[in-house]
Amino acid sequence: MATQIFMALGMNQTLGMASTGEGLQVLSPRHLRYHETWISRGNGMHFLVTGGAGYIGSHTVRALLQQGHSTTVLDDFSTGHRWATQGQAVIEVDLKDLGALRTALAGTTFDGVFHFAAKSLVAESNREPQLYYQNNVDGTAHLLTVALENGWNRCVLSSTAAVYGNPITDTLGEAHPKNPISVYGQTKLAMEHLLERTCADHPFSAVCLRYFNAAGAASDASLGEAHDPETHLIPTALKAAAGTGKPLTIFGDDYPTADGTCIRDYIHVEDLANAHLHAMNYLADHQGFIACNLGNGVGFSVKAVLAACEQAVGATIDYSIGARRKGDPATLVADATRAKDVLDWQPTHTTIEAIVASAWVWERTWEIHEDRRG
Ligand code: UDP
Repeated sequence: MATQIFMALGMNQTLGMASTGEGLQVLSPRHLRYHETWISRGNGMHFLVTGGAGYIGSHTVRALLQQGHSTTVLDDFSTGHRWATQGQAVIEVDLKDLGALRTALAGTTFDGVFHFAAKSLVAESNREPQLYYQNNVDGTAHLLTVALENGWNRCVLSSTAAVYGNPITDTLGEAHPKNPISVYGQTKLAMEHLLERTCADHPFSAVCLRYFNAAGAASDASLGEAHDPETHLIPTALKAAAGTGKPLTIFGDDYPTADGTCIRDYIHVEDLANAHLHAMNYLADHQGFIACNLGNGVGFSVKAVLAACEQAVGATIDYSIGARRKGDPATLVADATRAKDVLDWQPTHTTIEAIVASAWVWERTWEIHEDRRG
């Protein structure tokens, strides 16, 4: 079991040493406590993963499988991929359809629910607010209705730094005011409120994980980012370099930052996935509701990310400067102290070069994976 756990965390099997891809580091005693807790002891647990065919959901399924657990993936495949479900049981249902959801899940039990299924594009959300409220908020209400009907009592929710809106402090802690400036951020905040209320009124507990900028791909390149259309900076820059996507436009170079481009906190998708396991672990012996930020706590400008992409690719990447994108704050950097202290979580891919390098390996193996895409 110990070997399995170390593998799941990307660790060297030497006790207390973690291979981060950037040299070995000594693990803190706090980090080691993870190995003695519920999710690592309970080999063979079964979890529901809504949106498990998507980018972060599929990496979380992978992390659970690496720990000896199994999952049921619930997805409507509107943006997810069948190849990303990794042989797990699949329920194809639209969360907006409460009747179908009830029928599909009647009488089921799970050790916990990971709720990823949501629409997540800022620009699209501002164009189609009804779609986002129906999909994200109504969908979550339906999921929680079915959860209570079936007596499930634990949920880890995929949330976002977009709930904060424009920062009024250099780094964002969880207590920062929530004034989302996109419909996407509004719907995620409403999802959080719904879950918090459910925890207050019922024997139900939840952790909301507010991601900063998810990036990178599985270490073995078996999974990665595959959006259509692709809008995120790193895959857009790498596809431009590979000639498989559109040319890169930097959305504004007149922000109040050192080089004029937006600053974001990029966090590796495997670190995000592991945080979900730590959060579910936490719910084994904690009641109620808590929200935690997930980020590296370091910001990189668009131009700095582009430089890291050029280093990974070994060539310059052409770009043009375009207008600012609506709904983009100048800077978003996490204060992730709470996730480290409360969830015993530590990111392991801590440099932008390491994050981009894993994304580039995934992009380079596009042809190998193409048959899986659909
Ligand atoms: N960005 C950009 N060109 C692109 C995509 C993104 O300049 O083609 C910028 C975007 O304005 C933001 C940063 O890169 O400042 C990260 O954007 P992304 O869409 O990857 O993530 P978001 O911050 O919206 O979650």
